[in-house]
Amino acid sequence: SLHEHYAQVATSQPDKMDAFWMPFSANRQFKKKPRLLASAKGMFYRSVDGREILDGTGGLWCCNAGHGRDRITAAVSQQIETMDFAPTFQMGHPLPFLLAERLAAIAPDPLKHVFYTNSGSESVDTALKIALAYHRVRGEGQRTRIIGREKGYHGVGFGGISVGGLPNNRKFFGPLLPGVDHMRHTLDIARNGFSKGLPEHGIELAEDLERIALLHDPSTIAAVIVEPISGSAGVVLPPKGYLERLRELCTKHGILLIFDEVITGFGRVGKAFAAQRFGVTPDLITCAKGLTNGSVPMGAVFASNAIHDTFMNGPEGAIELFHGYTYSGHPLACAAALATLDVYAEENLFEKAIELGDYWEQKIHELRGLPNVIDIRNFGLIGAIELSSRPGAVGARAYDVFTTCFHDKDLLIRVTGDVIALSPPLILEKNHIDRIFGILAEAIRETA
Ligand code: PLP
Repeated sequence: SLHEHYAQVATSQPDKMDAFWMPFSANRQFKKKPRLLASAKGMFYRSVDGREILDGTGGLWCCNAGHGRDRITAAVSQQIETMDFAPTFQMGHPLPFLLAERLAAIAPDPLKHVFYTNSGSESVDTALKIALAYHRVRGEGQRTRIIGREKGYHGVGFGGISVGGLPNNRKFFGPLLPGVDHMRHTLDIARNGFSKGLPEHGIELAEDLERIALLHDPSTIAAVIVEPISGSAGVVLPPKGYLERLRELCTKHGILLIFDEVITGFGRVGKAFAAQRFGVTPDLITCAKGLTNGSVPMGAVFASNAIHDTFMNGPEGAIELFHGYTYSGHPLACAAALATLDVYAEENLFEKAIELGDYWEQKIHELRGLPNVIDIRNFGLIGAIELSSRPGAVGARAYDVFTTCFHDKDLLIRVTGDVIALSPPLILEKNHIDRIFGILAEAIRETA
């Protein structure tokens, strides 16, 4: 097949790997000992050397329905034969309208309007721009400040890295967006270490919003953006009551609350969105990844009726929002998303994280007591095992666990710093959970 041909070419000429400048990777290290995947089905990848690799990461938090779903494949194939592309600027085609209806039906009330993007990063920049423009349109153009949070990850656009709170993602790129401030993060291993589910301590950290709002004057603040659960920083959970308190403060001060649900969306925590699982409704939700089961790039922003309707007041012939992407509502992405939603619904996959959540929690916490394990965190089908760092070599220990798992034990995990993060496809079963944590326990013991 064409794919086998590509795999053969790529692996027979490792010296020819230089041209691809890999994202978020140690390029030179990787190219010396590559980890290449060739195919995928269900819970498993197959590596180019023919090994079956259990996927503990849902690709990259995106393949919630597992890999190689026939229904998605068929929908995308049919669509590319029917119509490859159609513009959505002053033009349209049926699919994005159909899809938006379907998405609105699973989104929390009153977030019933959908703006399409192609990635999580674009969703974040889109949500920030909608928030700023919303205030401007309603005559509060002085609301220009945006509040993010330390350890936040909101993709890699300039908006996203400005509100984000991961130093490495920021420090190389100049002064970033003006008027951004950050709340403290909620990771507190000393008080909350080895919590099962949401941590007890830290609701008071939400008062950072009050403090920052008063510092700048609340009437200058447009929006607050947080991940309900952050993934890229190594899985940081909201303390009990924390998100509720952010909501209260936002409402009190007329500040929009944005939930970045790029990883928590589409069933990761037992409902379509974390907003629903936590019972806290933001004004805007960003998503991507699981929207198409990772199959075709696509993201979306959900906006509340109030925000959307505010834009719809001017002259009818006027463009209401000067924003959009050539590929907003791309036919292939829409076809993939529609089929993905069918699969999620037919297999009740949004409920899987609740059904399996207790077992997942029990099994991950059995790793407590292994060498260098300093914290274990879980919620829904998300898990994190934090290792103590080797002196002067942050990340090295978890990286060794990662490569041991991949090369020697046929398990794909993801590591950031010294945190092992897990986000398996929601189709997994108990035996996969046993296998993931059995392998991890071995790898952690061997890597001390
Ligand atoms: N926001 C969050 C919370 C994410 O976890 C990610 C990616 O992991 C993004 C935004 C960026 O998404 P993308 O890589 O599709 O641009």
